[in-house]
This record gives sequence, structure tokens and C-alpha cells, in this order.
Amino acid sequence: MEILFSYYPGRKRRAITFSYDDARKNGDVQLVEMFNRYNVKGTFHLGSERMKTQEDKVSLEEAKELYKGHEISCHGAHHYFMENVPFGTMVNEIMSDRSTLEKTAGYTVRGMSYPFGSYSDRLIGVLKKCGIEYSRTTEGTMKFGIPEDFMKWHPTCHHRFDLEELLEQFVTRKYLDMPLFYIWGHSWEFVRDNNFDKMENFLKKATQYDDIWFATNIEIYDYITAVRSLKISVDNTMIYNPTCTTVTVEVDGEPIDVKPGNNKLI
Ligand SMILES: [Zn+2]
Repeated sequence: MEILFSYYPGRKRRAITFSYDDARKNGDVQLVEMFNRYNVKGTFHLGSERMKTQEDKVSLEEAKELYKGHEISCHGAHHYFMENVPFGTMVNEIMSDRSTLEKTAGYTVRGMSYPFGSYSDRLIGVLKKCGIEYSRTTEGTMKFGIPEDFMKWHPTCHHRFDLEELLEQFVTRKYLDMPLFYIWGHSWEFVRDNNFDKMENFLKKATQYDDIWFATNIEIYDYITAVRSLKISVDNTMIYNPTCTTVTVEVDGEPIDVKPGNNKLI
């Protein structure tokens, strides 16, 4: 019996995720509207203290409604360069951001992107203790892999690259299980460069493929974590799924849904 790990939820073969930083009102409003129109999801890394004090940011009051159906995620409360600040400040920056954003979002906030792309192993140690489970860097790989370490989640690319060319590679790529196309940026860059049509053209093409799962960062993280948590018997006939996420695997060429708990394959 052969078991392959090649499906995302809904028996989709590929996934695309978006990650946008800084909560700038003139940009996020237009981008969210576009994502909604194409029925895709985004992750928005916000930074709660700046939302309280800076007028160009989406306010905490506005955020709940604006980002509904998308993921609200941390970006450090004050947007500090995080790698060299004292431990106590790291803790405050993250815990206050989580706490404020959770009240706004109405769910647990467990993700982050690094302000200025700045990170270190010292910071990552603190983040994990503060309940952060993934954090995105700014180091584009131009590849479609899933990270070994979600605390160093390197995206595929910033949106300034040729997204349509990369999409072509993404949908034709063979010999890669569960390819993931991860696009990041700042929505204010679309305003500055007057090129929202770049994202619109990408979405028009990408949403025509029905084997692509459009998911938030935390949905990708939770699904991959569930895949990696499966306990499979030595003879490949039983799978114990200790998570609350149904995982689809490929058994002798057929998709099989592995539900939470014990699953017998024959
Ligand atoms: Zn930022």
C-alpha cells in the first residue's frame, strides 16, 4: 500500500496564499475588496499600537469588518526592528499585539510577519514562548516549497515580480507534492505604483484553476501541521490523526479523507 501526501483540503493539488503588511487604509481597503470579488483569502499583518495612533492605518474599530473572512495576524505592536530589542520588549510587542488583535478578530491570533523582515534565533525563541506559530520573512525563494520551519517562512516572492510567469511555472511544475505559491507585499505599494491591475490580472488567471486552494497563512500552517502529525502504522494500513483537521492523503492513487482519530485503510 502506497500513501502519498499530495492533497490540500477539498482535494486540491496546489495552494496560493497572500500576506500583506502594515494595515495602511489606503491600500488594504482596495485590496480586500479585490480579494473578496475573486473569492480568495488574504492574511493581513497589522501592528496594533500604530492602528490606535496613526490616522493612515485601518483603525481597530474598522478592522473587524474590513478583514472579515481573511486572517488578522501580528506584525509587532510598534513595528520595531525586533532582533536586537531586550527580551521584555519582545514579549510586550508580541503579547500586546496578540491580545489587542484577538479582541478585534474574535479568534486566537497565532501568526506574524517580521517588521522590516528582521529576525534572529533569539527572537524566534521568544516568539514561540509567546504563542506565535509561524512568522514570514521577506526573503523570497522564487520557489513553491513548504517551509521546514514555519518561524522562518520564506515566501515565494514579493508581488513586484512577474506573477503571471510564476503562475505558469506553478501550475505546470511536476515532481513536487503540495506546491505552495506565497506572495507578499504592502498594499500601499499598489497605490504608490498605481498598479492594482497587476494583482487583478493575476487573480483573473489564478482563479480559473479549480485545483488551487486559496487559503490564509494560518490555514496553510494548520493543514501542513496536521499532515506532519499523522501517525501511520508500519504496514500502512492504519492512520491515527491526533488533530481536529481532516487530512486528505492519496492511497494507491485514490484520495482518502483521514478524519480526526483512528482510520483503517483496509
Ligand atoms: Zn511592516
